[in-house]
Amino acid sequence: MGDRYANFANSGLGRGVVKRLGLPDPPRLRRYQPGDPLTDGPVLLGAAPGGRLADPLGKLLSAVGVEVAETVGDGDRYGALVFDATGITDSTGLRALYDFFHPAARSGRGSGRVVVLGTPPEAAASPREATAQRALEGLTRSIGKEFGRGITSQLVYVEPGGESAVESTVRFLLSGRSAYVSGQVIRVGSGVTPTPADWDRPLEGKTALVTGAARGIGAAIARVLARDGAEVIALDVPGAGDALATVANDVRGRALQLDLTAADAPARLADRLVGLDIIVHNAGITRDKTIARMDESRWDSVIDVNLSSQERINDLLLERGLLNAGGRIVGVASIAGIAGNRGQTNYATSKAGVIGLVQSMAPVLAKKGITINAVAPGFIETAMTAKMPLFLREGGRRMNSMSQGGLPVDVAETISWFASPGSATITGNVVRVCGQSLLGA
Ligand code: NAD
Repeated sequence: MGDRYANFANSGLGRGVVKRLGLPDPPRLRRYQPGDPLTDGPVLLGAAPGGRLADPLGKLLSAVGVEVAETVGDGDRYGALVFDATGITDSTGLRALYDFFHPAARSGRGSGRVVVLGTPPEAAASPREATAQRALEGLTRSIGKEFGRGITSQLVYVEPGGESAVESTVRFLLSGRSAYVSGQVIRVGSGVTPTPADWDRPLEGKTALVTGAARGIGAAIARVLARDGAEVIALDVPGAGDALATVANDVRGRALQLDLTAADAPARLADRLVGLDIIVHNAGITRDKTIARMDESRWDSVIDVNLSSQERINDLLLERGLLNAGGRIVGVASIAGIAGNRGQTNYATSKAGVIGLVQSMAPVLAKKGITINAVAPGFIETAMTAKMPLFLREGGRRMNSMSQGGLPVDVAETISWFASPGSATITGNVVRVCGQSLLGA
């Protein structure tokens, strides 16, 4: 299942061969370990005049012990380049981006970070400001493709009034938790968010249900949520019993054997769940065929497991009041739901539906103080992708800014950030965990 090419490219012999032949060069990505410093090196922090975020951000970074620089030092290497673009109110002001990033472009460390902060165009005070703020997307996505060496680049739109709510997102994006997230646009709403007592265990005291938790991405989600302090209920089909028990034991959680498509699944869930804080809809299946060759059972089963079951469970939790105030719902979509994929009309329909579910439910749930978001994984190294034909598998692995597939833990870290108490004003977002895959970009 491992990526043999990446191992070779990172070996003593491989490095030379890769360089000589101009082959894809997958860097080793910095991934989070508890206790790690937030960044690997100092942060270069810049701002366009009038920006409202650089100040609070500078204070936050200094408070957690990160060294902050305001001008590029000769030969200095930064763990992150952060630019507050909220002061840009028309297109001529975009020059501030060039003035910051041009001299700093070669000063990022491997697996470094670029974060640009802006105002959501829909919250801008004028069409000119909205235009300039929308333009930021082009810069951040291009930097993700230019910088290489595992450096990620994101745009975070912070609603006016959301200045103090941005901390969980900044922490996620600067740390090794977001190793395989790049080229994303994230929206943080206004409001004040609770601050976890311990940022290394932000989910302490929370109960989380993870579906499809016996293996692959679901098992990683169970482990990461537990590592971050949550009590985990790991759900999977009865046939996955042994693997499920292993995961549940490892995380000192509970196992729940249940087929989500069974007629009595909602009733059985209602019997066993009280006081849930987090639900992660991860269970999913593929039944690939072109639509011309697809029988109706392939269509029906994929839509039912991947989409309709999420709707049924959400309805149940909300109707019976089983999800606590401040609850978090996270769906697992796919970049196939954004780009479409040959042979996956059923799967892509279900995953685009998950995105629709998130977007349509976010305003409804906001009234109850519940957030709903989705991750859209790209090529992730699991049993599912190990079964792909060689040519397709290699294509999926290399056609992204990281020249490698992601790991289940990368998806799990993104879900844990959505689930964090500090992410209370983040809702209706779909964040790709795809290393900035070219598919549907
Ligand atoms: P996987 O097949 O390894 O794991 C899926 C789990 O869901 C299995 O343990 C399975 O038993 C469980 N499950 C399936 N049907 C169920 C049902 N009716 N009731 C309860 N549990 C059920 O898959 P994975 O690669 O870990 O993928 C997890 C999620 O991520 C899926 O939603 C998948 O579509 C999505 N995804 C994966 C990738 C990837 O590259 N692996 C990419 C994009 C999206």
